[in-house]
Parts: sequence; structure tokens; C-alpha cells
Amino acid sequence: MINVSLWNTVLEIIKTKTTKQAYDTWFSIIKPLTYDSSTSVLTIEVPNKFSKDWIEKSHKALILESIKMIENKDVAINIVVSETKQEPVLLETGNTLPAREKKFTASTINGLPLDPKLIFDNFIVGDSNRFAHGACVAVSEAPAKSYNPVFIYGGVGLGKTHLLHAIGNAIRNSDPSLKIAYLTSEQFLNEMVAAITSGKINDFRNKFRYVDLLMIDDIQFLQGKEAMQEEFFHTFNVLYSANRQILATSDSKPQELKIEERLKSRFEMGLIADIGSPSIELRVAILKKKAEIEKVYLSDEICLYISNMEQHDIRKLGGYFTKVIAFSSITKAKITLDLVKECLKDVTPAALERKITIEDIKEAVVKYYKLKPSDMVTKKRTQPAAFARQVAMYLTRELTDMSLPEIGQNFGGRDHSTVIHAYDTIAAKIQTDLVLSQELKEIQELAKQI
Ligand code: ADP
Ligand code: MG
Repeated sequence: MINVSLWNTVLEIIKTKTTKQAYDTWFSIIKPLTYDSSTSVLTIEVPNKFSKDWIEKSHKALILESIKMIENKDVAINIVVSETKQEPVLLETGNTLPAREKKFTASTINGLPLDPKLIFDNFIVGDSNRFAHGACVAVSEAPAKSYNPVFIYGGVGLGKTHLLHAIGNAIRNSDPSLKIAYLTSEQFLNEMVAAITSGKINDFRNKFRYVDLLMIDDIQFLQGKEAMQEEFFHTFNVLYSANRQILATSDSKPQELKIEERLKSRFEMGLIADIGSPSIELRVAILKKKAEIEKVYLSDEICLYISNMEQHDIRKLGGYFTKVIAFSSITKAKITLDLVKECLKDVTPAALERKITIEDIKEAVVKYYKLKPSDMVTKKRTQPAAFARQVAMYLTRELTDMSLPEIGQNFGGRDHSTVIHAYDTIAAKIQTDLVLSQELKEIQELAKQI
């Protein structure tokens, strides 16, 4: 077993020698496993092959150097991958392509402007976006040298556009001579059509075929548009064979897109990373970051409350935050939980869109906690049924219009004070218990589907 404090010291040294971004992405994920003193081999574990490749290639020297500073001896590093899940297809770009000639001296953006606020520093990393974020950091550190093309897919509001802008901003800062093109596939189509109708298709081609980095957002818009796919395919080939970086985002993976096979296979030969829905912890962290940027204070309780109003779309979450901030600044009121509730009272959490009945809730609770339907009405107070009943009563009060006596009646003829007690108990618990709070959301989802 490796000495933990030694590893922590190594990390402290690394922190001083690299950017926070690189540290969070590559070094904080490393788990030291063993150190064999007879062979001087340190074995470390990383979550996936992508991280392994990248650390091996770009960060191993720094780790070795840091260890040497403490131990004063040379060690070898063996990196192992902890997960067994299928890796995306990777393609190493060869060095046989023509060297890039730097034609452009000023930083130029073709397409849409980059938003200076969408940078890596403002992007919070969690399990659902770690891989995509890592890929994008790698691209920004060494365009066209790490993974090419890179394809990022995921639902709306999960951070795809943010990552593309972050890459563009980072590259523009580190090497302003690189020519960047960022645009949505819709804009690509509009420009193409305009170029064709005005007889300037060559200008259009030159605009996108002589860039160092081409980022096309929301490529799903290519579906069903054959002429555009054809044009994009050629643009792709020109850039790819000149060893320029290509990135694309989409709402689904390449295999699921209804686009030409040859275009699909171009994307499949690169790195494919998905972004999933953010966990409650990530949503809270994103809100805290937004608050920090806006220089406002949001208590944990308030962050949790807002974060629970939306489970997927981070854009919506940001919208709620903005609404609260605007409300408090207009009314000059302090941001309290009551103010937040008042301000967001018209926002209907997705789970409430369809009317949920007490029967749906009971069924969902029974299913979720693997109990019997009779556990909802029994007089017995044994656990875990008693707790599950409290949860069901809480949700019924939250999600239906039933009165307290009615609710009590439906849970085995209980008194309304029992319902109040159940409600207060659960309401107090979810303020601090993230796990329970998440469970309630899941039960709500389940009830919605019944
Ligand atoms: P998409 O392109 O996937 O639909 P966006 O990149 O436009 O999503 O993200 C929607 C909003 O959420 C943006 O304001 C973005 O800055 C924010 N956002 C998304 N993911 C994160 C994150 N991990 N950290 C901070 N903000 C995020
Ligand atoms: Mg987007």
C-alpha cells in the first residue's frame, strides 16, 4: 500500500506546478494503489483509458518529477484503469499529414462569436460530464494532437455549447494565431445556401476549410439535409487530412443520427463522449458557482431548494437562479427561502405537470421501497413501512390538493395530526439529507409514470 501522506505531498507539489483546471481534471482523479519498493514501481489507478492515455502522454513526467523531489529517487509508474465499461473508439492521428502553415496572425473567429463567460473555470465538473470535460480540456491544450475528431452528445442544457466556447476561449488565449470557427449546423446551412444563391460557394468553402479548429454545434440539424451533409463531409475531409481539430455536438450519438453512413463513420473514428443529467450535488455546485460569479450569497438550503426544481436542464436551473436574483434586487429584499418560494411559485417542476393522485404516490412508494401495498394502511408502526408511510404522506400533501384529514383517512384512518407530524419530519430531513431529497424526486418521477 502506498503511503497516503506521501501521495498527498506529491499532489501538493503538482498543484503548484500546474493549472487548477489541469489539476482537477487529471490529477485529482488519480488513486494511488501500491508502491513496490524492491522494483520502485508506483501503481496508480484512473477511471478510464482516456485518462490513462492522456496522463501517460502529458502528465507522467510531472508526477515523476514531484515524487523525485520528495523521495530523491527515480520511480516508474504503472497506470491501471479501474472501469470495465466499453471505451469509445480512439484514433491516433498519424504524423504523415502536411505540417500546418500558420497563415493567420490575428485571432479570428469564423461563424459565431465566442462568449467570454463560457470558460473552463466556470464549468463545474461532476461524474455526468467528467469525460466530456476531460476530452475538451485535452483538445484545448493540444488541438489536433490528442483526439480528433471529438464528438460530444447529450440532452439540452447539459453544457455542450459551454464546452465548445470554453475550448475556443482557451485556445484563443494560449495561441491567438490559431484560426477558430465556431457555429451551429443551422448557421452552416444558412451560409451555405446564401453562398450557393449568390454564386460564392468558393468563399464559403475557404471560410471553413482553412481553419485550425472547426466546432459545429448541434449537428443533429444535419439530419435529412443531404446537400449539407455532402458539403460538410468534404469540409471534414479537408480539415482532417490537414490535421486540423474538428469538434461536433449533438443531442444523440452518431450511430443514432439519421445522416449518411460515411459521415457517421468519420465521427465514430474519433473520440465520442456523452454528457448525462447532473446529480443533485452537481446542480448545487453549479448554483453555488453562479452565485459566486454574481457575488450573491445563497445558503445551502436555498441552493438545494432551487436545485430540486429541475433535474436535467442546467439552463432552466440558471433561469430560476436569475429570476430569484432579479426578484431580490428589484424588491431590495434579502434572499431567503420564503422569497425563493414566492418567486418560483409559478414554476411547475416537470414532475408535477401531470396531476398525480394519492394512489400513484402510494404505488410509487411501495415500489421504490419494495414494500407491500398493505404497508401503506396498516396500523403497525414497524420500520421501514412507518418511514415509507411518512414519505407517502409528505408527497401527498406536496403534490395533491387533498386536505390533512383526507390524507390521514387514506393512510389507514389516521388522525390529521399524524399527517402534520409526518410532513414536518420529512420536510426537516430533506433540508439536510441530499440522499433522501433525491429519493423523493425519484419517487415523484415514478409516481408520474404510473
Ligand atoms: P447545451 O449546449 O448542452 O444545450 P449549454 O452549454 O448551453 O447546454 O448549457 C446551458 C447552461 O448551463 C449554460 O448557461 C451553461 O453555462 C450552464 N452549464 C451547463 N453545464 C454546466 C456546468 N457543468 N457548470 C456550469 N454551468 C453549466
Ligand atoms: Mg447547445
